[in-house]
Amino acid sequence: MTQWGMVMDLKRCIGCQACTVACMQENSVPRGVRWTETVSEEIGTYPNVTRAYVPLICNHCEEPPCERVCPTTATYITAEGIVLVDDKKCIGCGACITACPYKNRMKLKAEPFKKGLYELGILTPFEQQGYPRFTIGTAVKCTFCHERVAKGLVPACVNTCVAKARIFGDLDDPNSEVRKLISSRKGYQPLAELNTKPKVFYVD
Ligand code: SF4
Ligand code: SF4
Ligand code: SF4
Repeated sequence: MTQWGMVMDLKRCIGCQACTVACMQENSVPRGVRWTETVSEEIGTYPNVTRAYVPLICNHCEEPPCERVCPTTATYITAEGIVLVDDKKCIGCGACITACPYKNRMKLKAEPFKKGLYELGILTPFEQQGYPRFTIGTAVKCTFCHERVAKGLVPACVNTCVAKARIFGDLDDPNSEVRKLISSRKGYQPLAELNTKPKVFYVD
C-alpha cells in the first residue's frame, strides 16, 4: 500500500522560501498561517561557520499525537498515510495543537479573513476564491497537497522547489527515490526519539 512521504535534502536547500510561497498560493492560507517554512541556522564556530537551511512541514506521523488526542475524530489518517482534519467534525478545542510536538498545527482566527492579506478590510479576488474552503475556529495544517496527489501530481512545494531539495514519493516502494535517498544517505526523522514515526525524513 502506498505510504506517502517526503525527504528534505539539506545539502540542496538554499532557503529561498519558494516552497513557502507556493504553499500559500496553492492552498490560499490566510495571513499569519504557515503550513511550511524554511528556517536557517548558523553552524560551527568562527571563522569556520556556515549557514544551514531547514525546511519544516507537518511530518504526517504514522503514530500522530494530534490524532490520538482529538476528541471528535476530526483528525484522521488516510489509507495512504496522510494526516488530515475534517473541518465538519472539528470543534476547535485545540487539543491537537497542544499535542503536536513539532508545533505544526494552528487554529484559524476570524480576523485575517475579514482584514485580508493587505489588512485593508478588502479581499482580493484570489482571497475571495480561496477562503470559502476554510472554517474559522477549526484546526489546520499541511495536507501533503492530497488533492494534487490524488491527481498524480506532486505537492506544490515540491513542484516549486528550485533546488530539488524536497522529494516526494512512496515510502513503501523500495525502488522509490525517497526510499533510495533514505537508505543511501542515512535519512533521519525529526525528534525520532518521540516515536511518532514521521514520514518526513532529512538527509545531510
Ligand atoms: Fe500531527 Fe504534528 Fe505529526 Fe503533523 S507533525 S501529524 S500535526 S503530530
Ligand atoms: Fe480535533 Fe479539532 Fe480539537 Fe484538533 S481542534 S483535537 S482537530 S476537534
Ligand atoms: Fe503546503 Fe502542500 Fe507542501 Fe504541505 S505539501 S507544505 S500543503 S504545499
